[in-house]
Amino acid sequence: PPAAAKEILFEERADAKLEHRAPIVTVMGHVDHGKTSLLDALRKTTVAAGERGGITQHLGASQVRRGDRTILFLDTPGHEAFTAMRARGARVTDIAIIVVAADDGVMPQTKEAISHARAANVPIIIALNKVDKPEANPERVKSELAEANVVVESYGGDVPLVAVSARTGTGLDDLLDMVLLVADLGDYKADPARRAVGTVIEAQRDRGRGPIATVIVQTGTLRVGDAVVVGSMSGKVRSLETPDGTRIKSAGPSTAVVISGLPEVPSSGDVFRVAADERAAREAAEAAKSEASAPRDGAGRATMEELYRRIQSGAGKEVRVILKSDVAGSLGAIEHQLEKLQSDEVRINVLHASAGEVTENDILLASASDAIILGFTTTLTPGARRMADAEKVDVRLYEIIYELADDMRAAIDGMLDPEKSEVVEGRAEVKQLFDVGKGTVIAGCVVREGRVTRGARVRILRAGSLVGSDVVESLRRFRDDVREVKEGQECGIGLGPGIELREGDLLEIVGEQSTRRSLSQ
Ligand code: GDP
Repeated sequence: PPAAAKEILFEERADAKLEHRAPIVTVMGHVDHGKTSLLDALRKTTVAAGERGGITQHLGASQVRRGDRTILFLDTPGHEAFTAMRARGARVTDIAIIVVAADDGVMPQTKEAISHARAANVPIIIALNKVDKPEANPERVKSELAEANVVVESYGGDVPLVAVSARTGTGLDDLLDMVLLVADLGDYKADPARRAVGTVIEAQRDRGRGPIATVIVQTGTLRVGDAVVVGSMSGKVRSLETPDGTRIKSAGPSTAVVISGLPEVPSSGDVFRVAADERAAREAAEAAKSEASAPRDGAGRATMEELYRRIQSGAGKEVRVILKSDVAGSLGAIEHQLEKLQSDEVRINVLHASAGEVTENDILLASASDAIILGFTTTLTPGARRMADAEKVDVRLYEIIYELADDMRAAIDGMLDPEKSEVVEGRAEVKQLFDVGKGTVIAGCVVREGRVTRGARVRILRAGSLVGSDVVESLRRFRDDVREVKEGQECGIGLGPGIELREGDLLEIVGEQSTRRSLSQ
């Protein structure tokens, strides 16, 4: 799989002369807990120390100095960006700072951030922010963290916590010192003498310079004039700039640089590497292009069948699971069931468990971590359904706990019937199309048979032939958003952008059922 190939790129040779490199840090946490403010405040510690003046232009990453050491902060806070990069094979972050507001405590996105950092095996530092507020309640936050399995050092655990205020500046130096301490334990090293390898974190088209990309050099040294391969394109580094706009000739490990000279705008998460010369770069880009255009069969993804195969071959001793349920109360019961299924040979690792629908974030986490998703009495959002299809993530939905447990046991024992059956749950005929603006078209339909559910897969049939497929993005009856519409009823069905329908088209609503579920229901 491509992920494995990428790992080798970053591996150091046995005879390499490794040197310490600066830690690379991502800030995560619940909305409004102060991620952006904290990043700004941390940046200012460097400006205030007279290290560099003027207004910093934020282009993806910033270097913060503490004494004679530096720390590289990624500027896009949040676990979504972090896991999206990881799903593409990029491993940039060394340490995650999870910001928790002392007046608000552990919230849903705090838990998600914890799960995402844990799944990536990245050490966590808790920044207990807003301690200047009179309502701040650090002890409450610490016990909430313990409930989320993050036991801070003062409670006997191994997760460092630093009390800070992005507003007053309290504790910022302590936080930087803690990052450096964790970095010392991690002993991050790289070989500055080799050809550079790293990851694109941001890219855009610049009026004067054409495509520019902010890249993190992870190992090696990048130089002006280097021939580079970025994703499936090749180019020559025309100029290098630090994120604050200073022109430089070369950039070593754990630095962010803006490069120009690429033919197109790359995507964030693309790996870049320096090739021996322009011809080698072109050839490598060609090879990457044909690999990228090869049909993705999802090989290597964690489907239940794949899990069984790995367990059998001795390669997979761990089943990674993301658990979703519409009621928080049932999560504990399911986790308990899963725990009971564990054996000496197979460990079930619940990467994340939370209440609600299966979201795109869950799919991303599953894709980045090779996990399967088990949903209990819940559904997928339309976006998540689409992403699950594209990323080939196995999502299994259950209504009854013992069926969920049975499936897991079957996967572990190798008894799982590999087929997931598709059933046509309903058929609807398109009567009229309404353009509601912004490129969105709503199909006024009559449900001819069965039912239509929001988030379900749809096959579009025209004169009996399949012309496309999508998911039910929106479903309305009269003016109301509804989850389901039954036979004989009229409804408005909205599909994704770019899907062209015609009057008279037949929409076939396709449900997927795990084999264990009774098909006669
Ligand atoms: P983000 O959504 O996590 O990036 O949060 P922001 O950085 O946008 O901060 C959300 C709000 O909290 C803003 O109004 C900030 O001014 C405020 N805020 C952030 N840090 C602190 C702090 O340490 N103390 C106080 N009192 N307010 C803060």
